[in-house]
Amino acid sequence: MALPGIAALRRPPRAASFILGAVLMLTALWTVGEWRARSAAADLEHAAEGALALHLAALLSGLDKHRSVPFVLARDPEVAALLRDPADPDRRRYIDHKLDLLNAEIRADVIYVIDGDGNTLAASNWSSGQSFVGHNYGFRPYFRNAMRDGLGEHFAMGTVSHQPGFYIARRVDAPDAPGVVVVKVRFEDVEAAWARSDSPVFVTDGQGVVILTSRPDWRFRPITPLPEETRRVLRESRRYGAAPLAPLPFATGGPEDAARVVLLGDGVAAEGDPGSHLLVAAPIPGLDWTMHILVSRVPVHQQVALTVIATGFAGLLLLFGLSRLQDWRTSLRERIETQQRARAELEEKVAARTRELTEANERLLREAEERRRAEVVARQARADLVHAGRLAVLGQISASIAHEINQPLGAIRSYADNAVTLLRRERADAACDNMHRIAGLTERIGTITSHLKGFARRTSGPVGVLNLEPSVRNALALMEHRIRRAGIRVEVDVPAVQVRAEPVQLEQVLVNLLQNAADAQDGRPAPRIAIRAERRGATCVIAVEDDGPGIPEAMMPQLFAAFHTTKAGSGGLGLGLSIARNIVETFGGTIAGGNRPDGGAVFTVVLECAP
Ligand code: ADP
Repeated sequence: MALPGIAALRRPPRAASFILGAVLMLTALWTVGEWRARSAAADLEHAAEGALALHLAALLSGLDKHRSVPFVLARDPEVAALLRDPADPDRRRYIDHKLDLLNAEIRADVIYVIDGDGNTLAASNWSSGQSFVGHNYGFRPYFRNAMRDGLGEHFAMGTVSHQPGFYIARRVDAPDAPGVVVVKVRFEDVEAAWARSDSPVFVTDGQGVVILTSRPDWRFRPITPLPEETRRVLRESRRYGAAPLAPLPFATGGPEDAARVVLLGDGVAAEGDPGSHLLVAAPIPGLDWTMHILVSRVPVHQQVALTVIATGFAGLLLLFGLSRLQDWRTSLRERIETQQRARAELEEKVAARTRELTEANERLLREAEERRRAEVVARQARADLVHAGRLAVLGQISASIAHEINQPLGAIRSYADNAVTLLRRERADAACDNMHRIAGLTERIGTITSHLKGFARRTSGPVGVLNLEPSVRNALALMEHRIRRAGIRVEVDVPAVQVRAEPVQLEQVLVNLLQNAADAQDGRPAPRIAIRAERRGATCVIAVEDDGPGIPEAMMPQLFAAFHTTKAGSGGLGLGLSIARNIVETFGGTIAGGNRPDGGAVFTVVLECAP
């Protein structure tokens, strides 16, 4: 019998569970991987933006510092004086020295002064082999812009030094002395600082060409291919010297973020770096430049891998745990089912056994009731039988009793007749004597009838302890007439003992034995009956013996069986001994009959003796 709750515990087949688990696991891994990729990319971007902001701040502060120099020099009266009188060699030398000193202080590349025609009058590198003095820079955009607008800034390759630099030019604000003061800045320190970082940092100009960079080999290479026209213009202007302007092998876009992820191609990717980088850019205020930082996305991949592995491991652990739980549930379900089956079987067995026991009990009760009824019937039958036996005994002794009564009745008649005669003769005394005799005789009759009445009517009482001797006497009294008439010699030897019996029934037994003894000696000379009793331990043995012919051998096997008699002709029923045994057994005693060696029969009754 399966309970509904147990049915709910049934699990799907193992293969289905496995597939479901695998699908869930892969989905979870994919989701976690995606989430981790996004969050790690965001973290990386955040960090890159922070680094970029720092680099940008450093760059701007350097630029501002250098911008102040031409600003101040453009207002310097000595510079204006030089422009007014460029032929004065002392003045030129003086300014050369001054610029040299200033350059050493601010650590720019070169500081120089150009007149209105573009000729360099003085320069901080006046004494070096690559001195700018005497060179004409009238074609340079920074010069032209400064002459036109007052300020010109331009990044370009140096025509003399062949070193790239950022040129900051200021027009000298003196109408009579046109000219420009220029500071060429090289950013080597800045680039060296950038190079110390793992992530490449670079600045592109308005065309997207790298001009400042932590990776020198990237310089003057555009981050996206330049249109042919732009390349031509740049080459002709020699702004970046003879640089081929080959684009950096950056493949923009990727599976994750098309705009910001670049894949570094051969030659630019660091060794062991798969090349996927995040490109973060920020415009540089005041210039058409853009600063970039390229951060490797390896940490993102590592974190994603780590997270996926950890999640996978946790998932496997979870699956393992779930599988163990499943197994545990299965075994629990099986255990519960087994227990329920066992309990159901047990309950069934108990119910069957209870049914059997109930039926057996009912059968026993029925049998007990039947037995009880049978016993009542048997007891009643036995009592009836005993009473019938007693009446039979009475019937047998009634003739002699009638004779016994007739004799005093006859005497009473004669005494009465005599008394009448005597009264007529007025012999009152004699008549009175006769009356007394009559009274004595009626008393004798009364004694005889009272014996009979007691024997015939008295119903049996319970078994108890009684004196043996009065019962023997009563039995002999009932037999008295027959004994006397048959001239039987009676020997009595009964001590004063107490036995367990019922008086009327004990008398009945004794009368029966006396009757049989008398019957056996009917017509025989010198009949004799002896009644003896003696104590033997806890019992009392009562023996009734006679001098008759003894019990016939053929009678022996059924001596106490009912309806076995040798006296059928004289009205014997064969019930006397059967009833006697019945009575003695109800007293808890035994009865036996046998023949004496010297002739005659002897019957012994053994009864329980009172202490
Ligand atoms: P009944 O006296 O009517 O025959 P009993 O049961 O008293 O029935 O006796 C059964 C038989 O046992 C008698 O018929 C007789 O043959 C035998 N029996 C009993 N008592 C004696 C005795 N004292 N001597 C010889 N035979 C006896």
